[in-house]
Amino acid sequence: MRNYLKHYINGEWVESTGNETEDVINPATEEVIGKISLGTKEDLDKAVKAARDAFPSFSQTTKEERVEMLEKIAAEYERRKDDIVETITDELGSPLEISEKVHFMMGYNHFSQAAESLKEFSFKEDRGGHTRVKESIGVSGLITPWNFPTNQTSTKIASAFAAGSPVILKPAEQTPFAAIILAEIFDKVGVPKGVFNLVNGTGEVIGDGISSHPGIDFVSFTGSGATGEKIMKNASESIKKVALELGGKSPLIILDDADVEGAARASVSHIANNSGQVCSAGTRTLVPSSMKKEFEEAVKKVLSDYPVGDPREGNHIGPLVSKKQWDTVQSYIEKGIEEGANLLVGGPGKPEGLEKGYYVKPTVFTDVDNHMVIAQEEIFGPVQTIITYDSIEEALEIANDTIYGLAGYVYGNDPETLRKVASGIRAGRIKVNDTEADFSSPFGGYKQSGIGREWGDFGIEEYLEVKTVLGYPS
Ligand code: NAD
Repeated sequence: MRNYLKHYINGEWVESTGNETEDVINPATEEVIGKISLGTKEDLDKAVKAARDAFPSFSQTTKEERVEMLEKIAAEYERRKDDIVETITDELGSPLEISEKVHFMMGYNHFSQAAESLKEFSFKEDRGGHTRVKESIGVSGLITPWNFPTNQTSTKIASAFAAGSPVILKPAEQTPFAAIILAEIFDKVGVPKGVFNLVNGTGEVIGDGISSHPGIDFVSFTGSGATGEKIMKNASESIKKVALELGGKSPLIILDDADVEGAARASVSHIANNSGQVCSAGTRTLVPSSMKKEFEEAVKKVLSDYPVGDPREGNHIGPLVSKKQWDTVQSYIEKGIEEGANLLVGGPGKPEGLEKGYYVKPTVFTDVDNHMVIAQEEIFGPVQTIITYDSIEEALEIANDTIYGLAGYVYGNDPETLRKVASGIRAGRIKVNDTEADFSSPFGGYKQSGIGREWGDFGIEEYLEVKTVLGYPS
């Protein structure tokens, strides 16, 4: 049992001022694996005070000092690899291989990339008539979801540290243990007191408290649109800057010259990775009408390579994070059937032999109309929709007919068409074929997928203010 009943405030593990706790459940076994304290507004106030006290000196540290700090963090993070991997598998239900190759590595890449981006970053620029100086925005409040327990926390923290901004982190209640390891890492490498503060708790108390706190200058949030809206409203009362990384319903456009099996693999990977609990997942697969039958056969074949089961036993698809998420995904699967989409694979209920654990049958709907609920709303589970098109113009129209704009994917060969699709999709991140991730690239969405960008130098910019100085003495 992991019982973490303390918060990390001002460089120390301190008792919560409240008595409430919350159990953390292993989604593969449905067993309680530990608990956390649910913090109070008083705990948050203490963390804000610690961060404010740390601000004057931390914001004045040199770029070189912060590069060194980030490099030390990356090294210590790497040393804690086994703990991080095991913890994510236990709290999220992610298969061990994914916990290592995706979750662990994303966190590592964010810390090391922030150090690299910072080395190249210019905080002062002379423009002849004026000088532009970039300065830390102040104290940042970070609110993160459960689907990537080290990715979202690490990208925010790494950027904030690079910019000289002390932080208060409130991780998701479902997956709090990876963040505890991060606090231990920062403690070990000697991050100055008050620069990193961790307050566990509910969204209603600590999340709400962060977004409305007058002592916090900037809020960076990742999660649902509904919560993002509340955060923006709260933040507006003190004209606080917000960055929001919200959901998506991203299109994957398969071109008519694509290798069908490769395209089917790409489509399936979007619902298999992290059991489809990915904001940037390509969950609307657009295929040429002429390719539909062949593509459907390839998807069925490819899916058999993705066994569902115990995340500790080498399966590719683990359970969903919680009973609540399982119920939500089930209701979307039922909705798809009700709306008249055809089930190609999967369907409601649990996969055979997996009665315990929040497992879902990987489900692919075909004959989907883009106006159906299953094509418009973020399902956040292993559910793919196949939609057909007859021209590139129609494909782009369907791709953009959504309130979201986080990502877009295109799979095919003709360079001119690939370029046309890449520039035609209204989204913040486009991936052409199987290109690898680049952690220096900006990540964030158009439309209702959010405001702002994370990762690399764009991520650092979010935690800075720009000052114009006229007549800066040279
Ligand atoms: P959520 O938005 O409720 O939770 C995300 C974080 O916000 C958590 O830390 C939570 O405690 C906090 N929070 C909750 N209410 C808050 C409030 N009033 N003020 C401030 N913070 C608050 O998301 P969820 O309930 O965990 O998941 C619901 C749906 O959101 C999912 O099904 C999925 O569609 C979407 N989601 C998207 C992402 C993403 O990466 N964009 C991540 C997780 C969930």
